[in-house]
Order: sequence, then C-alpha cells, then structure tokens
Amino acid sequence: MNPPVCKLTQGTIALVVSIPHGGELLPDAFAAQMQDVARVRADTDWHLGRLYAFATTLGASVVAANYSRYVIDVNRPANGESLYPGQNTTALCPRDTFLGEPLYSDPEAPSSAEIADRIRDYWNPYHSTLAAEIARLRQVHGHVLLWEAHSIASVLPRLFAGRLPDLNIGTNSGASCAPALREAVIAAASASPFSWVADDRFRGGHITRHYGQPQRGGARGAARNGTDHLHG
Ligand SMILES: [Zn+2]
Repeated sequence: MNPPVCKLTQGTIALVVSIPHGGELLPDAFAAQMQDVARVRADTDWHLGRLYAFATTLGASVVAANYSRYVIDVNRPANGESLYPGQNTTALCPRDTFLGEPLYSDPEAPSSAEIADRIRDYWNPYHSTLAAEIARLRQVHGHVLLWEAHSIASVLPRLFAGRLPDLNIGTNSGASCAPALREAVIAAASASPFSWVADDRFRGGHITRHYGQPQRGGARGAARNGTDHLHG
C-alpha cells in the first residue's frame, strides 16, 4: 500500500502548522517519466521537520505532505492559476526545476488527464485533511491560527533577484490574518538576529490566500473566529 498523502499530527491548541513542500516521495510511476535531475528533489523545502519539531511539543497540529512537489504542488490552486501573474513562478505540476531544468523526458508531460488524476489522488486529500483539522480545532477554540511553513534557497535568479532575507513573512499583503497578528510576527522578526521582510517576493501561496480569512469571524458574530494565516 502507498504511504498516505500527508501526515497529520493532532494537537490541542488553536494552531495548525502546514508543511506542503517538505515531502520527498516520488512514486516509481512518476519517476519513470522524469529526467535524472528530478530524483535529486532539489526543490524540496528542506529541514522543516527539524525547524518545526517544537510545534508538536507546543501542542500544535501539524499537517505535512509526504510526496514531492514534483508530483503536484498542493500550495497552488487546483485550476493552475498563477500565484504571481507576470513573474516567473512554479506550476501546479511543475515541468521544470527552480533552475529551469526540464523534469520530464516528454516536454508535454504531464497530460491534463494525468494532472486531473493527481489533483484527485494527492491535492484533494491534503486539503481535506487540512480543512478537517482546522474545522475540528475551530469547534474547540472558536478560532484557529494556520501557520504555513516553508524554506527555499536564498539565491534563485530565475525566481527572484539578489538574495532573500532570512525570514520571509507572507500575509497576502495583510488580507490573510488580523493586523495585530501580522504586527506581532513582524515585531518578533525585528527583535531576532535574522534579516526579514513582509509581503515582498513571497506573499503566501494558495493555502495562505484560501484559508486565511480573519473576516469570516465577523460575519459569524465573533471577532476572531476566522482562520488567521501566515506564510513563514
Ligand atoms: Zn515551500
């Protein structure tokens, strides 16, 4: 039997950490279509298991993808829309690496039918797991903070100019969490020894933009009943 699409560790506090790009599994059926470079899985968000090991100790829930983003990127909209129109960015089912090396032997692969299968088999289960865990914790606490955890190489000329700051905070330009929460994260980053930027090159991907709805609470009559969401 294949390993599940993601690993869910259920916590008790109103915090969910989502790790969509830390998976390294690449099933043989996909690897067989791909060039050797794919097997390196260079574009994995490395070291997040170590970096966020404290999360479960805190009592947070963690949802972590088991499969490589080369299978499908669960942090892209399933309709394939670009997160950053007009800029180089990576696709729902990437056809090349961050460096621009082709992943597939056939430049037309994967077909739209194959992409639809991957949405059904990988994308949907990740989101149903994440949505169910958010719903469970909202029942308990009335609100949930969703923290979207990423890492990326600091220099990738095809995707951005220069060198990224150490910490790249994304809140969909302030839309995905309460202003006070954004300010609190910025204050913590400012007090740290690390360089940081907020809502610059990376403003949060599909998960941040889709689930981060602090205003939903207002519509339901509770000030903070929405899902705040940060991309860290
Ligand atoms: Zn990532």
